[in-house]
Amino acid sequence: MTTHLTRDISKIAEALRFGQTVGIPTETVYGLAANALNEQAVASIFSIKGRPTSNPLILHFYNLEQARPYMEEFQEELYLLEQHFCPGPITFLVAKTPRVPEIITAGLPRVAVRFPSHPMLRTLLAELDFPLAAPSANKYGAVSPTQALQVKEQLNGLIPFVLDGGPCSFGLESTIVGVEGQKVVIYRLGSIPLDDISVVLGYIPEIKNQTSASPLAPGMVKFHYAPNTPLKYFDASVRAKEGIGYLFYQNIPDGFPHLQCTVLSQGGDLREVARNLYRSLIEMDAKGFQQLYIEKPEPMGIGLTLLDRLNRATAKFQ
Ligand code: AMP
Ligand code: MG
Repeated sequence: MTTHLTRDISKIAEALRFGQTVGIPTETVYGLAANALNEQAVASIFSIKGRPTSNPLILHFYNLEQARPYMEEFQEELYLLEQHFCPGPITFLVAKTPRVPEIITAGLPRVAVRFPSHPMLRTLLAELDFPLAAPSANKYGAVSPTQALQVKEQLNGLIPFVLDGGPCSFGLESTIVGVEGQKVVIYRLGSIPLDDISVVLGYIPEIKNQTSASPLAPGMVKFHYAPNTPLKYFDASVRAKEGIGYLFYQNIPDGFPHLQCTVLSQGGDLREVARNLYRSLIEMDAKGFQQLYIEKPEPMGIGLTLLDRLNRATAKFQ
């Protein structure tokens, strides 16, 4: 089987109804989607990705109303965020009802739900009478694809179709939130910056994304989002050398050969850096460099999320 790119939403809906697993565009990264109520189809998501079944999946719905039967509650605090950011790149962790198959939540008591904003995905979700389970469309631990062709490059022959919805507008995974006590907690930094969430809430939510506080087995998520080529942070001591690739945010420093460099945002906009990061990492990874260097982001706004991802991506190579 070769994997085909298509813009035909009905064809994708049909494949999903048949229990097939397909690539889908979202505003964050591309997803590997299946009918969340078809346990065999969901099982194939794990096997295609090589993802441990102890790592739960996010459910995607058209809107909050569609998700109600799957959630025991949806707290006021979350409603406030839903009103502000949805449809959009934020995921809510809430108590599940028995309708949610155990395989989705890895036996955990809560389910992760999200209402994506990508227009083609919304059309698809509106056509379906089941939620989509969809993790990112990469092999486990690898960099998430942000365009259809990169899904095909990673999963060619393993899925029949990728719905081609163009490049992802955010380029980083969703922000995952839940409620503990009366307060919102952030379980994964993501495309919606912490600052934006704090403004809506009127307080800064606690971040519990450390491996130790994670619901997953310790150590599982420490190395993630990593290219095959060793990736390290750039600093002033790093010199230009043959066979080494460099990812800069805006300007290429003097003396660095442009052919070995990628600029993530000509205008120096961190959101554009976020949008281009994974695509550029995948591209640079394919160029056969012995080593890659990337600038370290300032921990402000979306930079905090970039730092989280890059700390994990570089952790393997320290
Ligand atoms: P991905 O689908 O690759 O974006 O990863 C989804 C992530 O969401 C998982 O790795 C978990 O960190 C988190 N998650 C999803 N569902 C749950 C759940 N039921 N309980 C706790 N965390 C969850
Ligand atoms: Mg992922």
